Amino acid sequence: MRALVWFRSDLRINDNPALSHASRDATKGVIAVFVASPTQWRDEHDLSDAKADLILRTLSVLSADLKRLNIPLKIVRADPFDRVPDALQALAREHEIDSLYFNDEYELNERNRDEAVRSTFEDAGLVVHTFRDQIGMDTASIRTQQGGFYSVFTPFKKSWIAAHQDGKAREIAPKPKKQPALAIKPDPIPNQLHGFAPTEHLHNLWPAGEHHAAKLLSEFCAGPIHSYKDDRDTPSLDATSSLSPYLACGSISSMQCITAATEANDGKLDSGSASAAHWISEVVWREFYRHILVGFPRVCRHQPFKPETDRIKWVDNDDHFKAWCEGRTGVPIVDAAMRQLLATGWMHNRLRMVAAMYLTKDLFLDWRKGERFFSRHLIDCDLANNNGGWQWSASTGVDAAPYFRIFNPYSQSKKCDPDGTFIGRYVPELADLEGPNLHDPSKLPGLLRSQLEYPEPLVDHKAARERAIQAFKAIR
Ligand SMILES: Cc1cc2nc3c(=O)[nH]c(=O)nc-3n(C[C@H](O)[C@H](O)[C@H](O)COP(=O)(O)OP(=O)(O)OC[C@H]3O[C@@H](n4cnc5c(N)ncnc54)[C@H](O)[C@@H]3O)c2cc1C
Repeated sequence: MRALVWFRSDLRINDNPALSHASRDATKGVIAVFVASPTQWRDEHDLSDAKADLILRTLSVLSADLKRLNIPLKIVRADPFDRVPDALQALAREHEIDSLYFNDEYELNERNRDEAVRSTFEDAGLVVHTFRDQIGMDTASIRTQQGGFYSVFTPFKKSWIAAHQDGKAREIAPKPKKQPALAIKPDPIPNQLHGFAPTEHLHNLWPAGEHHAAKLLSEFCAGPIHSYKDDRDTPSLDATSSLSPYLACGSISSMQCITAATEANDGKLDSGSASAAHWISEVVWREFYRHILVGFPRVCRHQPFKPETDRIKWVDNDDHFKAWCEGRTGVPIVDAAMRQLLATGWMHNRLRMVAAMYLTKDLFLDWRKGERFFSRHLIDCDLANNNGGWQWSASTGVDAAPYFRIFNPYSQSKKCDPDGTFIGRYVPELADLEGPNLHDPSKLPGLLRSQLEYPEPLVDHKAARERAIQAFKAIR
């Protein structure tokens, strides 16, 4: 039996269920394939340049690792997704493949594509094997008492932990077996994907591949995880794991993260060190949002989870949107956050919430605009988490912030960046300010204010807050 392993958002050889199984089942070798659909990814999925580039760099590492196992990695372009079944079938015919192996994905377009691939292969008499990879718990096993999908995180997590303790979590996959050598060469990895710009300036900041991801995880679990709970909301401390880009392209798995964190927590998932348990809980949020994609697929179409919120009349103001995108809102913490995104392809979680809440509540712009902008710029862009985060902030989503609990960006700023270290890093025109003025330079006396090359706030927070609350009340 010769196996074809289709790599997607699981670009690693360790703890890769599809690769592990294929390498055990095959008797006549394994071939690997990655299918690129750059036009669909760019035009329909808002994939960022940074993530497209990270995927290519990760493929180079993966190809070298696979080569050591005598598994050649082929690169196929099939664009849009409709073309994937034929492209994969042609490759399977060319290399006399008997069985196809891949790990599940949960986004709607991806699931439809995978179903089409499965029927094409099965119609041609080939066997298709699929595996659970991105989530520890099967979507059918974590259900409410009524058999539905959870839409509130806390009971979801309780049920997830109980299932884990019952031994239902996906186990770490055994290492893949080395294959007999084949006379098939791996394909060269392209430097750039059609339609995507290079992001060389991010290469040092975000080295690619599973070896780097594994090092980050083990360093994080050896130290910072134990102060995560106290430090995670302070962006100047770099106290979070920074693993999101690697989880997003699958150079590390969530189960590898949970296993390492549990080991660092004396074998405990939700007790022991409160910090480690908190971090595990964040990784479970990632899983929760994947269950939501399956249970409520309308969110994949960028529809609100709460349908009634589609009646909200968001403001249309291109100038405000542009100022937000460029980090020129006149609110230092929001501007620092947006400039961090533009400079590094990443934004701290607390700041994602502050920036998203500011766009949707203070500026009262449609959350989908912000969701798309984030997706197009984040190196960790991921539909489940990004959509979940945006709908949380906009009060349109599962377990979302209640519409009347609106972040005050100035108080958030004082709390998460008390001495302005983070603001000073990204908004250098304010670096000389101290105390409350740093968080709200509009309060400076006239002469001092006029000497600053920094915009006035786009809106008055108090009035904007009232406008948002009234708009939500109007649709109740
Ligand atoms: C508006 C908004 C948009 C977001 N967009 C994305 C996105 O496109 N991609 C993405 O991976 N995350 C997104 N998040 C979630 C979160 O901000 C990032 O996962 C986190 O900042 C990544 O940094 P880290 O790896 O250091 O996280 P850590 O704090 O070290 O957490 C470890 C991992 O847990 C998961 N995680 C942490 N927080 C969350 C959360 N709130 N929701 C879901 N999973 C979480 C991530 O996979 C993360 O890598 C978004 C959040 C908001 C509020």
